[in-house]
Amino acid sequence: MVKLTFYGGVNEIGGNKILLEDKGTKVFFDFGQSFTFGADYYTGWLQPRGVNGLGDYFQFDLLPRIRGLYSKEQLANTNLPYTEPEMSAIFVSHAHFDHINHLQFIDPAIPVYTGVGTKLFMESMEETSSFCDYGEHTCNKFRTGDKIKIDGITVETIHVDHSIPAAYGFIIHTSAGPVIYTGDLRRHGPRKDLTEEFIEKARAAEPIALITEGTRMAETEKRQNYSEPQVRKLADDVVSSTDKIVFAAHYSRDIDRFNSFYKVAKKNNRKLVITPKTAFLLTKLLDDEHLTVPDPLKDDTILVYYKRKKSASYEEKDYFVWERAFMDKIATHEYVRKNQKNIIMDLDFFQFTELIDIKPKAGSIFIHSMSEPFSEEDIADEVMHNWVDNFKMQFHQMHASGHMAKDQLVEMVNYIQPKQAFPVHTENQQLFKTLCKTIQVVEKEKQYTL
Ligand SMILES: [Zn+2]
Repeated sequence: MVKLTFYGGVNEIGGNKILLEDKGTKVFFDFGQSFTFGADYYTGWLQPRGVNGLGDYFQFDLLPRIRGLYSKEQLANTNLPYTEPEMSAIFVSHAHFDHINHLQFIDPAIPVYTGVGTKLFMESMEETSSFCDYGEHTCNKFRTGDKIKIDGITVETIHVDHSIPAAYGFIIHTSAGPVIYTGDLRRHGPRKDLTEEFIEKARAAEPIALITEGTRMAETEKRQNYSEPQVRKLADDVVSSTDKIVFAAHYSRDIDRFNSFYKVAKKNNRKLVITPKTAFLLTKLLDDEHLTVPDPLKDDTILVYYKRKKSASYEEKDYFVWERAFMDKIATHEYVRKNQKNIIMDLDFFQFTELIDIKPKAGSIFIHSMSEPFSEEDIADEVMHNWVDNFKMQFHQMHASGHMAKDQLVEMVNYIQPKQAFPVHTENQQLFKTLCKTIQVVEKEKQYTL
């Protein structure tokens, strides 16, 4: 008897927590945090206390009470007693927050399986962010095509294209037949061939079940979505037709997007000014021979922006140890101010105060290369536009999604032909059901027998 239970990612985008049980073997696939997690109880500075572990989460039923899953320390102030691990493994599809963030609560005695590149992303985040700690798990790394035996089941790992490198889908060979889990994936990215390969293998497996993401399952899409080459082309059009500085805001772990702006900078003889955090991540990713990224210490196109801190005079001791490695490539606000026409600069929302020092000339460019806001009442969006307007910058929106469009999702499910399909990571299961015959609408924490 094989059983599936969905503890997260149900009727919400992100937060996937999928338990597969096969004759006493229990394996989780992803253990992430949804984007709206805890928003009914916690906001702004009102946040769960680290010192109280899971106590501040169980109070509001924010995480499932599962025995043999969480660490002793996390359970100390709760009424769920600690027991020896009952899970054999946790598999991680990719290093996005909504798939990994709750690993922090898991018993370190439970081994975690990640892609080689995923582990590098996780290490980089733990090093450069004070909020990030995924726990001291034994981490077993895999590559595409590996077949990992966990007691009676075998997990086959297959690369897919997504908005972060080292994203994987899984074919889980169980005693009842193959179960497919897509993770997050797209068919319009620079490596769409990876996704195509995954879909072919998934179909060939003749699965009894398909757990599929459905981020973009919606009647109509309000957001403009491009492919990655289109984003690069649009960015190049903008950069090549201005003699002003160009700022770009994009997700720091989207290496495809980084490469797009890097190539545009190179082509237009501009320097690409990145944050120490991005420089650190790139240095880390150089360890994965399957990824192509420039070395920030050696590459002539790249400079690293240092904010003024503490002494305000760029002394080495003002910065975290991990930040100091790139000071030979320093770009200060003065340098940026004096060389505006020769620069594309990464500038996310939380770095906007740097604009006060940089003083961009009127008519400078701000490219928002991330998804558009979810609603018109998005306060951060309003603040962003106030800044852009105050500095008299021109605003451009251009983004390629990490997820398949609706029609592609339907086509994928119908092509793979699973006996039944379980939609996760979606707010629109009902629409899925009207479009695909085999959809089983998922209820949170209900057990499904395959
Ligand atoms: Zn993702």
